[in-house]
Amino acid sequence: MTEKLAIDGGKPVREKSLPGEYPGGMLYGKEELNAVIDVMKRKSPFRYYGPDMAWKAKAFEKAFAAKMGTKHCLGVTSGTSSLVVALKALGIGSGDKVILPASTFIATAGAVIVAGAVPVFAEIDESLNINPDAIEGMIDKDTRCIIPVHLLGNPCKMDRIMKIAKKHKLHVIEDCAQSCGCKYQGKYVGSLSDIGCFSLQMNKMITAGEGGAVITDNPKHYEMAARYHDHGMFRESEGFLGMKEADSVIVGENYRMSELTGAIALEQLKKLDRIISAMRKIKKLIKDEIKDVRGLAFRKINDPDGDTGNVLCMIFPSAEINLRFRKALGGEHINAAVSYGGEAVYMMPQILHQRTADRNGFPFNQFKKKVTYKKGMCPFTEDLLKRHCYIHITSRFTEKDAEDVVTGIKKVAEHIL
Ligand SMILES: *Cc1c(COP(=O)(O)O)cnc(C)c1O
Repeated sequence: MTEKLAIDGGKPVREKSLPGEYPGGMLYGKEELNAVIDVMKRKSPFRYYGPDMAWKAKAFEKAFAAKMGTKHCLGVTSGTSSLVVALKALGIGSGDKVILPASTFIATAGAVIVAGAVPVFAEIDESLNINPDAIEGMIDKDTRCIIPVHLLGNPCKMDRIMKIAKKHKLHVIEDCAQSCGCKYQGKYVGSLSDIGCFSLQMNKMITAGEGGAVITDNPKHYEMAARYHDHGMFRESEGFLGMKEADSVIVGENYRMSELTGAIALEQLKKLDRIISAMRKIKKLIKDEIKDVRGLAFRKINDPDGDTGNVLCMIFPSAEINLRFRKALGGEHINAAVSYGGEAVYMMPQILHQRTADRNGFPFNQFKKKVTYKKGMCPFTEDLLKRHCYIHITSRFTEKDAEDVVTGIKKVAEHIL
């Protein structure tokens, strides 16, 4: 006899939930603490000047660029601002269209709109990332850029995407907010296109609570990014409040990274390899045990050697089976999540109804033929999102936790698949 499911009154596989998320955040220790204390003791939390500088933001940028294998890195205030800065560094804005995957966090689409451009959404594939085959059909004369999003530690098919971009003379910005340390064909994501964007928000691979970074090999992109993020200034070469009478001086924002953020981020970066190898090891333990479970299918991983291993993502034949599977698994105290409530990003009301803070409807009013969004626009994406769920694997998973996940999935599969 198969064992009774916990939701039917049986004994749950485990008594407590799995260890929480926050791969980097849960590894905060004396390193981060001492780095912050150092900045505070010096009374110098601003990155460009102070009574006794520790130059932590600069040190983080240097270390991050070196790690990712790019020439330049600029620290910023968030993943969202990293995307805005990247778009602006490439001169993208009013009257431009940017191709995004139909499934991503709202920030990807929001940053495009804030930058003055308009997102168009391409279907994803079984990797839950943008489907390269869907990109060319979305390109028109206004298209300037593609933003592939490496979702949940799985790299996009960057070779295909870069080829399409080259053919159509489009820029590419990688959104790596969820995939710091992920690799594609041996190289870190973010280093494979014009500009790579990262977030240091709490829920990401490494974190300072908030923060972000852009990386690039192109010195011009770097300079423009630095200027846009600091009111047009490029202090590195021009000094404090330096303002050359140059064509390159532009009106900008303030997206500067604080020294406190830099201090924490630098210590977190040192832990990145440890975090990823721990998660990859646990994921392999689990996957080896469940790969032959009848009826169970997984999200396609575009480069298994580059997967960060922070989620185990399953795909079911129907939304209904997904719901039942997840509910039963939850009863065993193994919680599985669904990306963004199982909805395409354009279903978020502010995107769907194109509501911006501008009373004239900017930037959606910039086109003769209006860009519109509607339910059913990307049917494959909408269907797949309802049929997937994933379990977070974190740096703190023990082998016992992994065993429980295996036992739980096998048990629930016997009843439901
Ligand atoms: C988190 C996230 C962002 C935004 O990062 P913030 O630091 O929260 O602004 C952008 N894109 C994706 C895919 C994200 O997951």
